[in-house]
Amino acid sequence: MNTFPLTKNQLEKLTETYETPFYIYDEKAIRENMQYFKKAFSIFPEFREYFAVKACPNPYILKILESEGCGGDCSSLPELILCEKSNITGKRIMFTSNDTPAGEFVYAQKLGAIINLDDITHIDYLKNALGGQLPDTICFRYNPGPLKEGGNSIIGKPEEAKYGLTKQQMIEAYKICKAQGVKHFGLHTMVASNELNPDFFVDTAHIVFDLVLEVQKECGVNIEFVDLGGGIGIPYKPDQKKVDLNYVAEKIHALYGKMIVPAGLDPLAIYFECGRPITGPYGYLVTKVIHEKHIYREYIGTDASMADLMRPGMYGAYHEVQVVGKEDLPKDCIYDVTGSLCENCDKFAVQRPLPKIEPGDLLVIHDAGAHGRAMGFNYNGKLRAGELLLRTDGSVSMIRRKETIEDYFATLDFNGLKDFNA
Ligand SMILES: *Cc1c(COP(=O)(O)O)cnc(C)c1O
Repeated sequence: MNTFPLTKNQLEKLTETYETPFYIYDEKAIRENMQYFKKAFSIFPEFREYFAVKACPNPYILKILESEGCGGDCSSLPELILCEKSNITGKRIMFTSNDTPAGEFVYAQKLGAIINLDDITHIDYLKNALGGQLPDTICFRYNPGPLKEGGNSIIGKPEEAKYGLTKQQMIEAYKICKAQGVKHFGLHTMVASNELNPDFFVDTAHIVFDLVLEVQKECGVNIEFVDLGGGIGIPYKPDQKKVDLNYVAEKIHALYGKMIVPAGLDPLAIYFECGRPITGPYGYLVTKVIHEKHIYREYIGTDASMADLMRPGMYGAYHEVQVVGKEDLPKDCIYDVTGSLCENCDKFAVQRPLPKIEPGDLLVIHDAGAHGRAMGFNYNGKLRAGELLLRTDGSVSMIRRKETIEDYFATLDFNGLKDFNA
């Protein structure tokens, strides 16, 4: 678990200006982590991390990552616009499509993004969307199916996942595109989510490199970049270990030397499109305890809810809960820490040993910087938390305000009710 970057006093002071609950991101830690990521992969002739925008779709965060050399991985029109607003354009955008409407392909092409297709039938669909002309560069998403063991409750088994092309379709797809004048090719795969075993990513690279060589042989197409996807996990639980990126990079580099260089495919650019390991550990949800109740279990009620952070409720995800100022007290109480949604799964922690908590205590929910605020929703009339940024100089900026009731009602016309006869 990361050390929360503010002291009790600093946090209490902050809650005088910004009402809880709120997210706060640590800019310094995000930058240092991105530098570590880049350095590990600097052993390749060309490397880029395309930050998965869906993990933390805030343009201030994107601008920080842009300044650290990242691109953006998008799969919707609003995500493309977020990149554009954050100075991420052209080939620094990866548009990883799936079930994508025509208009979004048009916008991606307008920005000069790399278009990553999810199916062989999307070649014609894309061509029609773009007025009869395919882009110069095309990438395809590979689904290795039962070749790849594993999967988990977030992404599932590859052969049961909706994404990507089969191997035969991949070969066919490159042939079709080559015949239609496409000049540059990439190959993408993403078969894991929140995976902590570093060898998993080495195996994935092996499968991808194998296919790169097969495509060269079968289609006469030289792949110029491989996108190894996202899916690098983070240690949510205290007994879990961070993925050693130096190890992953070195092992993949060894395969590169054995497979890619002899085939004359060097330089082959290596891309990732990670979200979770980039911002996940450096974002926190801060919430205040407003109730305690004692029934068959002990409950602690907070001013946040699953509408702010749905991972625990949705897939039983574990997030560390820090009771601010009580870090050194014995964890001799067993609590369910809940939110205010009328759903029994609205619990940030279940049967968790924690120090004795009282109303008014501040809780910090750790590792909420990716797929946190981003997955928020408005069910039950809940207004989503805002976002703060702890700058490298120690100052705090608001980078998204908390939602208001006006935001919630923005899509309704109450005036129409006057003439509406029920
Ligand atoms: C969600 C997703 C990612 C990012 O996944 P993380 O687990 O946040 O790293 C990358 N690429 C694609 C296509 C995705 O759907």
